[in-house]
Amino acid sequence: MKKYNLMKLIKPFLLGVAGISVTTLAFKQLPTRKFIDASNMDTSVSPGDNFYLYANGGWLKKNPIPASETRWGSFNELIKHNNDELQNLLQQASKSKAAMGTDEQKVGDFYTSGMDSLSIEKAGMKPISADLARIAAIKDSKGILNEVAFEHSQGNSPLFNFFVYQDDKNSSEVISQLSQGGLGLPDRDYYFKDDDRTKNIRAEYVKYLSAMFSLIGDDAAKAQANANAVMKLETALASASMTRVELRDPNKVYHKMTIAELNAITPAINWNDLLPRMMVNGVNNVLVRQPNFYKEVNKQLSATSLADWKAYLRWNTAKNAAPFLSSSFVSENFNFYGKVLTGQKMMKPRKERVATVIDGSMGEVLGKLYVDKNFKPEAKARMMQLIENLSQTYEQRIKRLDWMSETTKDKAIAKLHAFIRKIGYPDKWKDYSSVQTSRSSYYKNVQECNRFDYNYMIHKLGKPVDKTEWGMTPPTVNAYYNPVVNEIVFPAGILQFPFFDFEADDAINYGGIGGVIGHEMTHGFDDEGRQYDAQGNLKDWWTAEDATNFNARAKMVVDQFNGYSVLNGTTHVNGQLTLGENLADLGGINIAYEAFKKTKQGQSNEKIDGFTPDQRFFLSWAQVWRANIRDEAQAQRIVTDPHSPGMYRCNGPLSNMPEFYAAFGVKEGDKMWKPEAQRAKVW
Ligand SMILES: [Zn+2]
Repeated sequence: MKKYNLMKLIKPFLLGVAGISVTTLAFKQLPTRKFIDASNMDTSVSPGDNFYLYANGGWLKKNPIPASETRWGSFNELIKHNNDELQNLLQQASKSKAAMGTDEQKVGDFYTSGMDSLSIEKAGMKPISADLARIAAIKDSKGILNEVAFEHSQGNSPLFNFFVYQDDKNSSEVISQLSQGGLGLPDRDYYFKDDDRTKNIRAEYVKYLSAMFSLIGDDAAKAQANANAVMKLETALASASMTRVELRDPNKVYHKMTIAELNAITPAINWNDLLPRMMVNGVNNVLVRQPNFYKEVNKQLSATSLADWKAYLRWNTAKNAAPFLSSSFVSENFNFYGKVLTGQKMMKPRKERVATVIDGSMGEVLGKLYVDKNFKPEAKARMMQLIENLSQTYEQRIKRLDWMSETTKDKAIAKLHAFIRKIGYPDKWKDYSSVQTSRSSYYKNVQECNRFDYNYMIHKLGKPVDKTEWGMTPPTVNAYYNPVVNEIVFPAGILQFPFFDFEADDAINYGGIGGVIGHEMTHGFDDEGRQYDAQGNLKDWWTAEDATNFNARAKMVVDQFNGYSVLNGTTHVNGQLTLGENLADLGGINIAYEAFKKTKQGQSNEKIDGFTPDQRFFLSWAQVWRANIRDEAQAQRIVTDPHSPGMYRCNGPLSNMPEFYAAFGVKEGDKMWKPEAQRAKVW
C-alpha cells in the first residue's frame, strides 16, 4: 500500500506501524492480568502536572529501547510479539511441503528465499544487473522517461508517484492520479532546513549515495560525482514539492486535467506515449496532485544532463533493491536509513525483517492464515456493539453543539450514519492466484508482488469502486478512516490489550479501543475530513457561519499543540501539521468518555485496584501512549508525522476536559490546568 502512497490518503491511528503486525492476545490463555498496574506508574509526579508521566513513569524507567528499535512502547511490544507469531506461521508453511499454488506454498517459499542468506550473498548485485545494463544503454531524455515508465509498470516508483484511486469529487469512480515523489530523504524540508541536525543528515546522505554508487561499480571519483548529481536533482524536485502542511488541504491537491492539458504544462513529456508504457490505456483525465512538481520534472529533463539522469535512475534501482540484496547493500542501507536517520543501533534479525516484508507484500495471504488461527467472531460482535454505542453518543453530542446550525447538524448526522464499519479482516480476500513465488530468489519474489500490486491497481480503471477493499493487513496494530469511502476500519491486530480485552472492565476498553473508535469517527469531521460528504465526495456541506465557528475552535487546538516543546526545547510540535490527528484525539476521547458513562461501571463509584471507574478510564487512555523514543527518531517524526508525540497525544486532549480534572483533582496552578475559556472543545 505504501508503494502507491495510499497511506497519505487514509488516516491511520498512528504512523510507522502499518504493515507490521500483532496477534490478538485476547484469545490466548493468559494469567489474569492487572489492567492498571500501579508499578507502571510514577506517583511522585502529580497527575495534574503531567498525567502521562504519572500514569507511565514506572513503565518508562523499566523499559529502555532495545538496540534494534527506535521507539519502544505499548505498540512495539505487541508488534514484536506478533512478528514472532508470523515467523511461526511462515516457518510452518516453509516446512509444510504444500502443493504449488497454495497459500502455504506462496508464503512458505517466499520466507525460505528470504532466509537463504548464502544464496543472497552469492548473488551479490546480480538481481539488478539487467536493470543497470538497461539504464546504461539509454541514449536520450526520451529513453529516461521510457525507463521511468517501465519501472512504474514493474511496481516501482522512480521520479514520481502514480496511482489509481477514487476521484475526490466523484467518489463513485476511480481515476489515474499523479503526485510528487522521487526523493530519497524523508521529506522535502530535509533538503533546505539549516539546523545542525539536518545539515549533518544531508552530508551523511551524500556519503551514503556515494557508497551505493561504489557498490554498483563506480570508482571513487565517479561515485562522488554521481552522489552530488543525485543530490542536486533531488533538491530541485524538493524545491517544487509541497510541504506536508500544504498537502493536508484537499482542494490544493485537486487538479483534474485532460491528457492534453497535462501535456501542455509538461511539453517535454508526451503522456499519450508514456501512460500506455505504464500499462495505463484509454484514460482521458488525470488527477495531478501537484502540477508545479511536474513542471519542475519537465524543466529538469533539459536542465539535468543525460549522465546525471542515468545516475539518478541507477540510484533508484539500487535503493529499491538494497534491503533484498547481499549484506554490503543491506548494511549501507541500514547505516543511513536506520542509524543516521532514526538512531537505530542494530539491525533487526533477518527472520523478523523477512516476516515484515511478507506481511507488506502478501499481507492478505499471510493474514488469512493468521485470522484462521487467531481471530474469533465474538471480537467482531463486541466491537460492533462498542461502535454502535459510540455512534449513538456522537449523534447526541452533535445535536447538543451550541456552535452549529440545524441544517449542518442534519448533514453531519447523515454522514455519521453513513460510515462503513469494517472489523477484523476483509469479507472478500484479494485473489493472489496469479502470484508465483519460489525458493530461488528473494528479490524476484518481492518484485513479483510489486508487479502484482501494480496490475491489480491499474485494473481498477473503468470498473465500479470496490468498497470491500482494505488498506491495512489483518494483523496490523492500527486503524484508519478513509474520507473517499467514508469508512472506519479496525484490523484484528489492534483488538487486544492495552486497547481491548474480553476480561477487562469497561473503563479499560472504552479508554483504549473506545478512544480509537472515537478518533477514527472524528476524522470524518476534522479539518480535512469535514470537507468530504456522506458519499465521500469533496464537496462543501457547511454554512459559512458554521465553518467559521469550526475554524475558530480548531485554531485553539493548533495554538495548544504549537506550544508543546520537544527534544529539550530545541523544537516544538507543528500544530498545523498535526491538527487533524489532534482533533481526532480530542473528539475521540470525549466521545468514548460519554459512551463509557452510560455503562454500569461508568455510573458506579466502585474502585478496582484502588482506582475509580473514571480514573481507570483516563489511565487506560494514558497507557496506550507509553513509549520511549530515540532523539533521532523523534526529530524525524516532528517533520514527517502528522501525529503528535505520545506524551502530548495523552496530555493534550485531557487538559481540555473538566471530567479529567474532576477525576484527579486537577486545580488551578497545576501544569495541565487551563482556564475554561482556553479549553478547546469541538465535537
Ligand atoms: Zn488518526
